[in-house]
Amino acid sequence: MILESFPVGPLQCNCTLLGDEASGEAMVIDPGDNIPQILSRLAKHKLTLKQIVVTHGHIDHVGGAVQLRRATGAPILLNENDLPLLKMMDMQAGWLGIAPPEVAPPDVSAEDGMVAGIAGHAAQILHTPGHTQGSICLHFVADKLLVAGDTLFAGSIGRTDLPGGDGRQILRSIHDRVLTLPDETRVIPGHGALTSIGEERESNPFLQPGVRL
Ligand SMILES: [Zn+2]
Repeated sequence: MILESFPVGPLQCNCTLLGDEASGEAMVIDPGDNIPQILSRLAKHKLTLKQIVVTHGHIDHVGGAVQLRRATGAPILLNENDLPLLKMMDMQAGWLGIAPPEVAPPDVSAEDGMVAGIAGHAAQILHTPGHTQGSICLHFVADKLLVAGDTLFAGSIGRTDLPGGDGRQILRSIHDRVLTLPDETRVIPGHGALTSIGEERESNPFLQPGVRL
């Protein structure tokens, strides 16, 4: 497996490239920005992009998706509950003081229970609303890997004060859908350092018994 995770754009969203050497297939998760760099990483490994998955509709995660689709023809998956956020792209760009990127509705709505991924690397889609209503995590069961978007961070959780955010809901999503995964599951959060389910269960201050938002 080829697995590269690297920060893109002014908010340093972790973009993840996952490739399969045998088939030459790849998927990219959260191409928020820096599309030329993503394309050159794909070319370096001689990979063909099969799928673009966006964990939620915030500009720093979705901003480059249409550009990457245009360059590769790969379909975009995003949960349709975040369509209202795509419609607010001008406002989101205003928060950052940047020009709004081109956005478009996804080719496929990433629904709970759906299986995404590429040859040899299937990913279960977990709908984990709270940071946004359409937030998803991708669980690569065989690879023991979770790509968590802005639902879970090392030592923290996603903010819930933006439109569509809900503090109680994000805690419920994490407890019911994420902390139920095996401790050894590696976690690539939407920003910052990598972690594991076991580490967050043990020490994340937001996830201790009795904590409420
Ligand atoms: Zn976000």
